[in-house]
Amino acid sequence: MTQRFQFDIRATDGKARTGLISTPRGDIRTPAFMPVGTAATVKAMMPESVRATGADILLGNTYHLMLRPTAERIANLGGLHKFMNWDRPILTDSGGFQVMSLAELRKLTEEGVTFKSHIDGSKHMLSPERSMEIQKLLGSDIVMCFDECPALPADRDRIKQSMDLSMRWAGRSREAFGDRPGHALFGIQQGGLEQDFREESAKALSKIGFDGYAVGGLAVGEGQEAMFGCLDYAPDQLPQDKPRYLMGVGKPDDIVGAVERGIDMFDCVLPSRSGRTGQAFTRRGVVNIKNARHMDDPRPLDADCTCPCCSQYSRAYLHHVFKAQEIISSMLVTWHNLHYYQELMSGLREAISEGNLSGFVKQFHATRAQGDIEPV
Ligand SMILES: [Zn+2]
Repeated sequence: MTQRFQFDIRATDGKARTGLISTPRGDIRTPAFMPVGTAATVKAMMPESVRATGADILLGNTYHLMLRPTAERIANLGGLHKFMNWDRPILTDSGGFQVMSLAELRKLTEEGVTFKSHIDGSKHMLSPERSMEIQKLLGSDIVMCFDECPALPADRDRIKQSMDLSMRWAGRSREAFGDRPGHALFGIQQGGLEQDFREESAKALSKIGFDGYAVGGLAVGEGQEAMFGCLDYAPDQLPQDKPRYLMGVGKPDDIVGAVERGIDMFDCVLPSRSGRTGQAFTRRGVVNIKNARHMDDPRPLDADCTCPCCSQYSRAYLHHVFKAQEIISSMLVTWHNLHYYQELMSGLREAISEGNLSGFVKQFHATRAQGDIEPV
């Protein structure tokens, strides 16, 4: 196994790429989907079950873990991998985005952000240096730069100001991260939906030099059309030979469209969060298992799915356990959803390898357009 962090592109089809990220903790096949393990767990899943769905890497959240149980406590207990029983790669975000969306009484300065915890009101500070320190204490394999992301829509002045600050913080993150063989630091491109700011941001990041690059500041309410509009140029502005990561995306069709535009990595709470509310992602679109039409349906969610939920349980059973609020309801549908996402990624990788991405995408949309199977 390699001791270095390395990215090899194995095949391309149009702008899409498939390849392998090698890390000392294992390989990551790209395009990759990272399930979200916010508080050191992918909710309702055992780590070995997450692995069984085909996930090569998980995402952990700096903001949540620094507040509870704290990064220092996790470090004293041997690091996040050991703590949560996941020995494969982990990417951690910088905490910046969640401070902005969750914390109370935020104060933003050149130095960083001070805020009050949404859990107990205690006071904390995050800066590029502190974020790097926390992600190191956690033992993260892929560390994200500390950045600031304005909510969209925002005017050009606000976006420019924020992007400039994020680029200064990117330099400080790089400095504070230092030289850590086997660990990677990713820069985050900002600039909202402004092509010139995106270009400026990409240039600033490339000059600093990172192991990978994220397209940040999207999927914040701008809608798919605007997001794809930005993705028509943003990935091209970033270095070709490094992984590109679209943060916080997304729905299956968002992912497919972003892969077509040259994105290699994704994370999203959607498959796990929806799993807990009875929304199942299938080849034929979203199925709400709580709907009464499933009450007497002996068929699986998706007859072609090989996950434990679909191979062993009926729609009627899933409907019942959701209605009865049994814990297994979250477990089964989360498992199915994560399995579906990983199968989608595997299908995309195979299609790119075979030079058949456009055929795959056509089939993907055609199957979804059929809608769910007819009621019994
Ligand atoms: Zn399934």
